[in-house]
Amino acid sequence: MGSLRDCTWILGLTEYRVVELAREDDGRLVIEIERRGIQRYVCASCGRRTGRVRDAKVRTWDDLPWAERPVTLRYTLRRLWCRQCGIRTERVGFADPHARLTRRFRQRIGLDCQSMPTSHAAVRHAVSWGAARRAERAFLEAWDRARPRRRPRHLGVDEIQRGKGQQFWTVLSDLVRGEVIGLQQDRSEDSLRTLLTDRMDARQRAAVEAVCSDMHRPYRNVVAEMLPRAEVVFDKFHVCQHASDALDDVRRQEFFRAGAVMRQHGRGKRWLLLRRWKTIRGSKRTELQALFAANRRLFKAYVLREQLDRLWTYKTRTGVLNFLNGWIDALRWQRLPEMEKLGEFVFKHVEGIAAYCDHPVRFGVVESINTTIKAVLRRARGMRDEAMLVLKLKWATARPIRSARDVMRFLHPEGMHSLR
Ligand SMILES: [Zn+2]
Repeated sequence: MGSLRDCTWILGLTEYRVVELAREDDGRLVIEIERRGIQRYVCASCGRRTGRVRDAKVRTWDDLPWAERPVTLRYTLRRLWCRQCGIRTERVGFADPHARLTRRFRQRIGLDCQSMPTSHAAVRHAVSWGAARRAERAFLEAWDRARPRRRPRHLGVDEIQRGKGQQFWTVLSDLVRGEVIGLQQDRSEDSLRTLLTDRMDARQRAAVEAVCSDMHRPYRNVVAEMLPRAEVVFDKFHVCQHASDALDDVRRQEFFRAGAVMRQHGRGKRWLLLRRWKTIRGSKRTELQALFAANRRLFKAYVLREQLDRLWTYKTRTGVLNFLNGWIDALRWQRLPEMEKLGEFVFKHVEGIAAYCDHPVRFGVVESINTTIKAVLRRARGMRDEAMLVLKLKWATARPIRSARDVMRFLHPEGMHSLR
């Protein structure tokens, strides 16, 4: 082996030097380290320096491997007489209090846990699952703590289904940056109220101009109560979902009414019919056109559904209202009760739809957040720990790592201070 000086250089802990190296039977490398220079010791709880040592005890920490060999650091940890706190242990620069792994090792594990399951990361770094999970939590908490508190103009409130059965959760997100803010069980008024009070402060709430949500009544009530300045913008995808349901009802009715013709052309066309015209290509278009030629009412309903898209293209609320009136007028002699019901529904909610003119929230972000949440839940195969799940969702939606430089920011031996 090289000299101890070289080993100190490889170890790379600025305040410590290598005193001795030992090999264990299982291939583990034990590195004994000692402090450099004559300094007084730092109290672990208050940070004061003191020279009064009460006693000392050898302790070990697992560290990053040297060329795939697992490494254990051995250091004699002092207990001090602190003027402020009494008997306390000394603070060491390379590890958090009570941790059995060094900080840089935990950071590496925590970072790996963001791109692989915790069990996988635990095996890779030869630590227990519990140790990997604790490292991951410490890593994410440190990242979350160091982030600036932003004041988003646009919020998203949505519900997600978790697990089997009717178990719903409310998700609060920042639509400007596309990040999850918080998660709360249930989809009641209370769940959203808790999210808005616990996860945001008064200054953040005051900055909100618009909240994008579905037509769910409890959410609208809470927004009116807690964010009086903010307006509710209805999520386009939810409105379109209602339109597709209406079209599906028409299809079902037509199957009953125009039996033989529909059976010939309309069998197995449900998903094709519910797709948007611009996403259909080639032979599928021909199929759909044949269906429309056989049934004009279905054609009419399809066109009406497609036209509804224009609700989100107007610059003024009057424009939206005029368009909607025209759309409802066009229905008059069509005898399509399902579409008329849709017209009534849209009319009833037109204020929240037209609010889009003044607050162009990013509908696509709402969808992409939902997709990310589902992916995280699937990869974790469900998660019991709520706080951990929220942290993981924040990380996954904020996507703080986009380059090699970003990775280096998270593997900083002195801890994490300058993080976004
Ligand atoms: Zn102290």
